[in-house]
Amino acid sequence: MARYVYGFDEPADGGRELLGGKGIGLAEMTQLGVPVPAGFTISTDACRAYMASGGKLPDGLEPEIDEHIARLEEKAGKRFGDTDDPLLVSVRSGAAVSMPGMMDTILNVGLNDAAVEGLARRTGNERFAQDSYRRLIQMYGEIVDHVDAHRFDDVFRHHEDDLPAVIDAFKAIYEEQTGRAFPQDAREQLGRAVRAVFESWDTPRAMAYRRFNHIPDDLGTAVNVVQMVFGNKGEQSGTGVAFTRDPSTGVSGLYGEFLADAQGEDVVAGIRTPEPVDAMRERLPGAFDELVETIRRLEGHYKDMQDIEFTVEDGKLYLLQTRSAKRTAAAALKAAVDMVEEGLITREEAVARIDPGQLDQLLHPRIDPNASYDVAAKGLNASPGAASGGIVFDADTAEERGRNGDAVILVRWETTPDDIHGMIAAQGILTAHGGMTSHAAVVARGMGKPCVAGCEALSVDVDARTASLNGTKLGEGDVITIDGGTGEVIVGAVTLIPPEINEDFETVLGWADDLRRLKVRANADTPEDAAKAREFGAQGIGLCRTEHMFMAEDRLPVVREMIMASDEDERRAALDKLLPHQQSDFEGIFEAMSGLPVTIRLLDPPLHEFLPPLEEARDEQMRSRIRALHEANPMLGTRGCRLGLQFPEIYEMQVRAIVRAAIAVRDRGGEPLVEIMHPLVAFREELRRLRELTVATAEDEGELDYLAGTMIELPRACIRADEIAEEADFFSFGTNDLTQTALGFSRDDAEGKFLTHYLHDGVLERNPFETLDQSGVGDLMAIAVERGRRTKPDLKLGICGEHGGEPASVMFCHRLGLDYVSCSPYRVPLARLAAAQAALAESGIEAVSVGG
Ligand code: ADP
Ligand code: MG
Ligand code: MG
Repeated sequence: MARYVYGFDEPADGGRELLGGKGIGLAEMTQLGVPVPAGFTISTDACRAYMASGGKLPDGLEPEIDEHIARLEEKAGKRFGDTDDPLLVSVRSGAAVSMPGMMDTILNVGLNDAAVEGLARRTGNERFAQDSYRRLIQMYGEIVDHVDAHRFDDVFRHHEDDLPAVIDAFKAIYEEQTGRAFPQDAREQLGRAVRAVFESWDTPRAMAYRRFNHIPDDLGTAVNVVQMVFGNKGEQSGTGVAFTRDPSTGVSGLYGEFLADAQGEDVVAGIRTPEPVDAMRERLPGAFDELVETIRRLEGHYKDMQDIEFTVEDGKLYLLQTRSAKRTAAAALKAAVDMVEEGLITREEAVARIDPGQLDQLLHPRIDPNASYDVAAKGLNASPGAASGGIVFDADTAEERGRNGDAVILVRWETTPDDIHGMIAAQGILTAHGGMTSHAAVVARGMGKPCVAGCEALSVDVDARTASLNGTKLGEGDVITIDGGTGEVIVGAVTLIPPEINEDFETVLGWADDLRRLKVRANADTPEDAAKAREFGAQGIGLCRTEHMFMAEDRLPVVREMIMASDEDERRAALDKLLPHQQSDFEGIFEAMSGLPVTIRLLDPPLHEFLPPLEEARDEQMRSRIRALHEANPMLGTRGCRLGLQFPEIYEMQVRAIVRAAIAVRDRGGEPLVEIMHPLVAFREELRRLRELTVATAEDEGELDYLAGTMIELPRACIRADEIAEEADFFSFGTNDLTQTALGFSRDDAEGKFLTHYLHDGVLERNPFETLDQSGVGDLMAIAVERGRRTKPDLKLGICGEHGGEPASVMFCHRLGLDYVSCSPYRVPLARLAAAQAALAESGIEAVSVGG
């Protein structure tokens, strides 16, 4: 028979998948001798069985729970359901993947009308006993029976000092909303709490969180039943959270928050603003020292920065949770570099430890240090980066305006897990209330969004849609700027500047470079982008698009002249005027990339893109040309090499410009490494003819070594890669078009339309334009690699679609055996790291993501 329940002191084989992160942490801490209350874990297997059966507890689970409750009673010397000296437990969610605050937990299970009196007698602390009972009714009511939270909050706010009255009112609210009296049977409370925790896996906010973080929907949660320890017993008690290093900066040392005379949920909910954890040092010196010693031990054991929850009951310390701390990218880098120096981890482990996707955070804008502005207010620097945007006061509006492409700042008194969709849509988050571990702060750090929390000078009136910031009245849509690195809030927009790479970042990227095989290039069309890319460590340009040069204001009229030309002579005359412009563009790029390869793609888009819309045509001649060039489906029309074959003089001009630029740069002492790329080839014959033209033109211009190759972006090209390779020195996978053509998705018609539904409904788990569809498009690439190299073993292979800057796709490209990936300059650092992780994975060191 299946087994579902494991005591914290019983080693289980299933690990994190089976016990969830919280459960495995409690078991490991127990087995390490860290002070943890006794308890047991109901496995994720049980949750999956519960979900699969449509809400039935699997056979055998109930007796197993009874058995473990009996063991717990024995350890505690108290009985569950006893009215004289009751054993109380918490019932806590905890999935294999951390989803902080997304699921539910109920404390003080086992109390009832009689037991609350027994507890008061036993502890000699009536207020504590009553406070515990009202908490149970509230949490149980909200989580098990979905009673409106604000009903309880309203009562509590007005009668905080009269707990018996609060309890009576809470019970009345419970009864009114559920039609039943508050359950007095401890075992019934436990049974329904376990089901409710299983069900909290599928609340809308948990689902939204999983979607955003790409966590599969079928993992389920474990349930931890933990003997209660009480932080709400008075001044010698309390609760808190602590980190072994600062999760914002990575600086080593105990960092956290403490609330005296409180239960755990008070810290997270931001009911009272907690004190820094150092406040414990004087008040509870024994517990403080033990805390410091214990978390050091845990960091040593896990060899990673920990985030722990603790409670002190009458001066005695208990740990209730430990996990790898979520951290900003800056903190991740600093902690990794420090931990290598401390000898805690190796360089390889440090590189494997950093989430490449998170590095984006460091590549966030910040406020221009030279900008002058007035700081309207200051809050806590909860999550770094700066953002400007219009104020929105609720998550739905944030989502709606965000979808329209507006930059918005979500301004709230406090955020709750129900605000998650608005936080996703906002550029930044500002709250009036809550500390560094409040919901807003934790979630924003995870998302890498700027957040200023606990800004006391801010008051928010959601109903009136106004806010007041140190006396300044603000309305919806008014622009503010927040700096989550300093906590500053500014009325109006401030100039933001792009970030630079700091020393820790350089150090880790240096280690990554030593480990990776895959090269990283950048997609860059201008000398400025090329220089930026080089600064970020790009080893060349994988895609230089020439059409951007055609669009420049001083070129477009000539380009139009060329398109309007009625015969080849006229066309050539216009092209002759374009040539010097193209040549000087290329010279700039070759200079910026001297010594590194530059792949230039010949003109790709359909010509009509360079013409104005029909209504704006200046005369009948232009109108008729626009009509003639009109295509029903331009993406599949006259573009790429088809254009080059129809109007060879265009490619001829471009090749001349490239070769002249290279020779000019070489003559000035530079080292141009030229790769000429022919786009959208499907047939060998297309490439054969174009290559012939390219070679003849280049020869005509002088002596230059260069490569001529093709972009692989059509399924046919993948399948016939063996023939195409006969004509190519290199392939570069254009995975944007390859994804469109392989899936038959037009990107413009998919995103925001059916693809959005697909992702929402789970037909597809990931957007194939963001991360490579490895089993479909990826397989076509594998075919092309295999067949291409069969013809030419030294065929150079790269990718230049946007996937080249997405970590999972980069790792896939490593496994395919490509020579390089190419991505936007800002993604180069991330690709360097992902490439190193791919190499490490091959030697058995798997990347562990604790960021996000
Ligand atoms: P979350 O995932 O929201 O942090 P937890 O299950 O960790 O939920 O519990 C919520 C709060 O209650 C935490 O602060 C935790 O430390 C506290 N808590 C949970 N179980 C107990 C217990 N047995 N005794 C005292 N506090 C507890
Ligand atoms: Mg919770
Ligand atoms: Mg917790």
